[in-house]
Amino acid sequence: MSKRDSNAVGIFGRFLDLLYPAVCELCQVSLTHGYSLCEDCRNDLPRIVSPFCEKCGEPFDGNISDEFCCQNCSGLKADFAFARASLKGLALSFRLVHGLKYQRQFFLARELAIFLKETLEEDPRFAEFNGAILVPVPLFWRRQQWRQGNQAYELSRELSRLSGHETIEAIKRVRPTNTQTKLNRKQRLSNLREAFRIKKKYAPIITKRKVIIIDDVFTTGATAHECARVLKEDGRVNDVAVLTLIRG
Ligand SMILES: [Zn+2]
Ligand SMILES: [Zn+2]
Repeated sequence: MSKRDSNAVGIFGRFLDLLYPAVCELCQVSLTHGYSLCEDCRNDLPRIVSPFCEKCGEPFDGNISDEFCCQNCSGLKADFAFARASLKGLALSFRLVHGLKYQRQFFLARELAIFLKETLEEDPRFAEFNGAILVPVPLFWRRQQWRQGNQAYELSRELSRLSGHETIEAIKRVRPTNTQTKLNRKQRLSNLREAFRIKKKYAPIITKRKVIIIDDVFTTGATAHECARVLKEDGRVNDVAVLTLIRG
C-alpha cells in the first residue's frame, strides 16, 4: 500500500476499521489503513505480466517477446477485442474472490478493484478505451438475491470510483443458467444462448460507445463472448474489451 493510497483512505478508512475487523484477509495480521490486505499479501498476489495471450490473457512462462495467440484462441471467434485479467488463478486469488462471491464480503471489492486499475493502466490497449463504459456481467435476479449482491457489479463500481469510467448495468440475465464449472467452452456457449439482453432504458446511453466488460473470473471466455455479442448486435456498441480479476 503506497502512502498516497493510505492518505486517500483517510477518515473514511478509519471509519471502516470500526465496521470491519481490521485484519488482513489472507494472513490475519492486524491492519490500520482501512483496506483488507496487508502490504506483503498485496505484493505477493500473483499478477499476470507479459507474456500472455493477446486474446484471452492466459499467462505463459518463458520468454516470448512478440505478441502471440494461445492454442485455445487461434482460430476461435470472439466478439471482444481482447481480454485481460489482473491475477493468476492460484489458490490465494481464488480465496479472495470466494469471499466476495459466496460469503458476502463485498468490502473486499474495494481492495480488489485496485488490481483491476493496475491492469487498466498497464496494458496500453486500454488507452483505446478511454471514456469507455464499464458493464458488469449480470447474475440472474434470483441468484443475485440469494447472494445479496453481484460480485461483478461490486468490482465495477469500485473501479469506477478509482478510474473515472462510468459503470452501467446495461445487460440483464433473462434466464437462469446452470453452473458452468464442469462444462467446456462449447457446452458453456450453448448453456448461455439467449441468456443475456440489453436493458432497454440503457440502450441509447451505450449506443456507439466503447465498453469494458467487468467480471471476477475469466475461464473459457464463453460468458464474455456472449455479453460482447449482445452488446455489439445491430452495431450498437463500437468495441468491447474484457477485464477480470482472475484468469481461471
Ligand atoms: Zn497479509
Ligand atoms: Zn488465448
